[in-house]
Amino acid sequence: MSFFKNIQTKNQKLIIPFINEKDFELYMKREDLIHPVISGNKFRKLKYNIQSIDKKKQLISFGGAYSNHLLALSYIGKYENLNTVGIVRGEELKNLELNPTLKRCIENGMKLKFVDRNEYRLRNNKVYIKKLKKTYMNSLIIPEGGTNDKGIKGCEEILSDDDRVFFDVICVPVGSGGTFSGLINSSSKKQLVIGFSSLNNSNLKNDIIKFVNKKNWELIEDDVFGGYAKFNQELISFINNFYNITKIKLDPIYNSKMIFRIIDTIKKKKWRFGKRILIINTGGLQSIESFNNLLKNKKCETISFTT
Ligand SMILES: *Cc1c(COP(=O)(O)O)cnc(C)c1O
Repeated sequence: MSFFKNIQTKNQKLIIPFINEKDFELYMKREDLIHPVISGNKFRKLKYNIQSIDKKKQLISFGGAYSNHLLALSYIGKYENLNTVGIVRGEELKNLELNPTLKRCIENGMKLKFVDRNEYRLRNNKVYIKKLKKTYMNSLIIPEGGTNDKGIKGCEEILSDDDRVFFDVICVPVGSGGTFSGLINSSSKKQLVIGFSSLNNSNLKNDIIKFVNKKNWELIEDDVFGGYAKFNQELISFINNFYNITKIKLDPIYNSKMIFRIIDTIKKKKWRFGKRILIINTGGLQSIESFNNLLKNKKCETISFTT
């Protein structure tokens, strides 16, 4: 399909005060610039999932209230004239005013079905999937986050040949682990791929082992901010400061937490990995609008930019 071209994004050198360029060479791969709505890694993960699909099928997938994945899927659905259904975690959302992410999903023509957390937990269960297929005739079910073999194949296209030669370390934020797995598979054996988890998913490591072909990786699971979409004032200030220094916008759920962690570890002289570091910016800026609504309600400092 025409939307998914072959894309190689550029690496931008990062100049951070207090980090000596002679000690650490930090680069950011600007996957966030691929598309304003199809957040960088969701473009990669949907590419092969969508490319071969039969037009009459409706696409079904799963996500949380700020899901970059559901929004990306709804956008593709609109673009390619495909029906889409989003199964959303949180039955209580049904009765609240929809946040900007979910509103946009609906504007793109996606049907939303809100389910409680127990039902959402069944999203990879074979019996549950069978039932869904009966309810939604002629459907293709894409796993949460687009993480399956086809999604990972797309993420194997993020690194260039030069990247495989130049860098010692590749850093990426982790949700379901698909992007991380694709990077591991396409990295060189000498490189270390570090994943920074944004959620508390005890099974994550086992999921990743199933998808990867090498052992050159490390998963950092203790999110210092307390889990998925959790934040504090320090994180919001960090996002705003980072923007003032670099003019790069970071999302509050994935990339800001990873980069905070990297810079903090280097500053505390605890970085035990290589010095040529490539940070993958996976995008996800659309969640800022929903986040800022939340921050305004709490009378907290807000993020100083939007998408
Ligand atoms: C979905 C998402 C991730 C997590 O990717 P996985 O492949 O699920 O691990 C990271 N960053 C952003 C911006 C995302 O939208």
